[in-house]
Amino acid sequence: MHRLAQLDHAYIWHPFTQMRDWLKREPIVIVAGRGAVLRDVHGREYLDANASIWTNLHGHNHPKINAAIQGQLRKIAHSSALGLANEPASLLAEKLVKLANTELVGRAYSRAGSSVASPHLNKVFFSDDGSTAMEVALKLAYEYARRTRSADSLSAKCTPRFLSLEGAYHGDTVGAVSLGHVDLFHKSYAGLLFKTDKVMAPYCYRCPFNQAKPERADAREYRKCNWQCVDKVEQAFAQQRKRGNPYAAFVFEPLIQGAAGMIPQPAGWLRRATEIARSHGALLIADEVMTGFGRTGVLGSGFRVQSSKMQGQNSERRTLNTEQALFACHHEGVQPDFLCLAKGMTGGYLPMAATLTTEKVFDAFLGEYEEFKTFFHGHSYTANQLGAAAALASLEILQSHTSRAARWGLEQTLREELQTLWSLPNVGDVRQVGLIVGVELVKDWHTRRPFDLRERVGIRVCETMTRRGVLTRPVGNVLVLMPPYCTTVSQAKRMVATLCESIEETVA
Ligand code: PMP
Repeated sequence: MHRLAQLDHAYIWHPFTQMRDWLKREPIVIVAGRGAVLRDVHGREYLDANASIWTNLHGHNHPKINAAIQGQLRKIAHSSALGLANEPASLLAEKLVKLANTELVGRAYSRAGSSVASPHLNKVFFSDDGSTAMEVALKLAYEYARRTRSADSLSAKCTPRFLSLEGAYHGDTVGAVSLGHVDLFHKSYAGLLFKTDKVMAPYCYRCPFNQAKPERADAREYRKCNWQCVDKVEQAFAQQRKRGNPYAAFVFEPLIQGAAGMIPQPAGWLRRATEIARSHGALLIADEVMTGFGRTGVLGSGFRVQSSKMQGQNSERRTLNTEQALFACHHEGVQPDFLCLAKGMTGGYLPMAATLTTEKVFDAFLGEYEEFKTFFHGHSYTANQLGAAAALASLEILQSHTSRAARWGLEQTLREELQTLWSLPNVGDVRQVGLIVGVELVKDWHTRRPFDLRERVGIRVCETMTRRGVLTRPVGNVLVLMPPYCTTVSQAKRMVATLCESIEETVA
């Protein structure tokens, strides 16, 4: 075994990993990466099919992000945000605010016929990871509710409460875990957590209300129901109001729930559910840790034909119409009160996160020093300069026409290639939202009977994929593809083909 692998075995405790299994075999030790390819200590190459746990956007070793970090490094790596401002964090905050308040929100609102006013997200609180971005939103929403409610509603029974979705995953810190509802991860810590409520989340493939029985196609496409999942949201809010303590906030992953099993919401669910939440006075906390920064695809894709007359001749120019909806909420014209960002924010280079919120929330924390209205929260590396420099470079790449066109192309390639999976008897559902893919494995597609988690089917398929040079991790029985945006057509085809072959080899 390579010496680095030995050291790993001797000392490192890996996240979300059964270490007894880990210690049975030599780990892959990554030493380099370029684009969508990772190289290990023995010189073997692998495709990074889950973008290094959903973080990497433009590929590894990107010259522009490398240069931005190196440039920043020549000035300074880090100085504290407690008492000091800094250059790249100020520029990044401005940029994030611009992107989060894109005119697309307004337009999507009018398209969707929504009457909901769009709050302006213009304050940015930086932190380190997805979980911390969620903790910030949670604490701010909690305290905002306490401060803005009338004094008599502040009795103990009226502690501000939160509603989140079944299967929700918002991170591993105690507050974020309290908002989550994945029993496998969270049950052991029940005694540590505060109480939150959950409401039915749409899961069309396994929805008891979905009357459609599609043969072999995405269940959402053949949804036949009366939006009972939306009714459940309304009921939850109404019941809580009756208890005299309306929910302080509604917490959700927009368009697709990740760790729950890559479960997409049918078009229109997000807008309807959030309108209900707003009508009951709840703030909206959007967890875009996974979905942010273009992951959920490009809005208004397609070709625009421009006709023109040049030198007396008619000519037609086809240009790719790729509007940018960098955040999943904006696809449905929803503007939250808290937008939580992490993972892809630095292009997958450095741990940095942001919680964007409104002036209204910000104002509730203003006061004379001795009133102690300060938001007493923050981390040592808040607003880190290297992270901010990487994020600025990443956002520039993300907004370029080249990146938009590449994302659009990759999304189409995946959509076409994934069709082959439907022919496998153990593939129950193939789900895709933009550049996020989940393939749910079942014992038999006719019955949709799930595999027992103890059978480790998802893990075993991923082990086979690894032997074939493609790296990803499952969520339970759901296999995930979430490639970096720079993935070429042939690499994307190889990812899907390897997935297909590995399911056949492992499950059959
Ligand atoms: N929210 C969502 C939707 C996530 O997918 C994750 C991580 N998978 C988190 C929060 C937590 O992020 P982190 O691991 O960076 O703390």
